[in-house]
Amino acid sequence: MDMSIWESVVIGAGQAGLSSSFHLTRLGIDHVVLDADEAPGGAWQHRWDALTMNDVHGVAELPGAHAPARDGQRANIVVPASFADYERGHHLPVIRPVHVDRVTDEDGVLVVRAGEREWRTRTLVNATGTWTQPFLPHFPGMETFLGEQLHTVDYPGPEHFLGKRVLVVGGGASAVQFLGALAPITDTLWATRREPVWRDDDFTPEAGAAAVALVEKRVAQGLPPQSVVGVTGLMLRRQEREAERLGAYADRRPMFTRIEPDGVRWADGAFERVDVILWATGFRPAIAHLAPLHLRSSAGGIQLDHHGRGTTAVKDPRIQLVGYGPSASTIGANRAGRTAATGVRRALTSSPVIGSAARR
Ligand SMILES: Cc1cc2nc3c(=O)[nH]c(=O)nc-3n(C[C@H](O)[C@H](O)[C@H](O)COP(=O)(O)OP(=O)(O)OC[C@H]3O[C@@H](n4cnc5c(N)ncnc54)[C@H](O)[C@@H]3O)c2cc1C
Repeated sequence: MDMSIWESVVIGAGQAGLSSSFHLTRLGIDHVVLDADEAPGGAWQHRWDALTMNDVHGVAELPGAHAPARDGQRANIVVPASFADYERGHHLPVIRPVHVDRVTDEDGVLVVRAGEREWRTRTLVNATGTWTQPFLPHFPGMETFLGEQLHTVDYPGPEHFLGKRVLVVGGGASAVQFLGALAPITDTLWATRREPVWRDDDFTPEAGAAAVALVEKRVAQGLPPQSVVGVTGLMLRRQEREAERLGAYADRRPMFTRIEPDGVRWADGAFERVDVILWATGFRPAIAHLAPLHLRSSAGGIQLDHHGRGTTAVKDPRIQLVGYGPSASTIGANRAGRTAATGVRRALTSSPVIGSAARR
């Protein structure tokens, strides 16, 4: 077994992990990137076929590269291809597939384990995103439903729903996109916990900064982060205007109270028959493998430095979190990579060099 100690290990090779690796390389920090997927592309390779580059709100450029063009091509092909080029072009040390199960602290050395394999390191950059942690709220009777229940991660594209009565649940951008695609071709209903907040202005950089600031405030307090994309408000794009005309967004109801075999029961006791429940209820950070490090605060989230604007875990400055909380967007993930690399260098300089096993 390789007992040498890396200066840093990055977990995840999405936008956040690749940006971190680029900046670590620039600083001359000896590292590897461990990625669970079979191929480059992070979560983008798993997004539904119908999602085109015109549909995404925007994919930021990786450091030193151009962002992929906005056109009608499939996002799950274009973005992974650009990440693959980037990894190759910058000689980033990505190893895959490696699914990290847990990270432990053994006598001051971080041990990153994936089954029987392990990597020992002085610092860690966690860039595991949210895609592998779909969030499904629990409702009474959920398991009795005889129709189909899908989450955003399973979305097979609109044709699958032809002729079915579909209840879309959730108040975020995914729900709006699904309704936009489904309402013109089939019968849809929409349920959200809160009244959706619509924006009709252009999404300005100031509005983006305000949304990020909200999430930073939560992370500074050690609260579980909300999605940045989730606090920006909802906008109808050209693609959804036809659905709006057909009333897709007008028939929005507060959440049902229980699920029954053939449908749902609303709070006023009325029953609604549905064939499919499409849960567009979001994601949570994929950080279960960090549990042995006890980074969570009593409020349930991981507190980050610089009032939530940094990437360093307050409880353990050897650990950086990128693509977490305020940096969980392509632009945020990109910037966080640079901050994380600086945080790694700071931790390496301030902690003593570990014995003869160190790699350099
Ligand atoms: C449907 C959807 C649409 C979005 N649209 C936009 C948009 O238009 N604009 C925008 O700015 N943001 C958007 N976002 C958010 C944005 O995609 C991400 O925040 C951003 O891409 C950052 O990605 P990431 O690198 O943090 O994570 P990911 O791209 O998810 O990469 C994480 C990587 O970590 C790996 N990994 C996970 N767990 C492990 C493990 N235990 N061991 C090893 N590897 C692991 C995965 O294999 C993956 O390669 C969207 C998100 C969703 C869900």
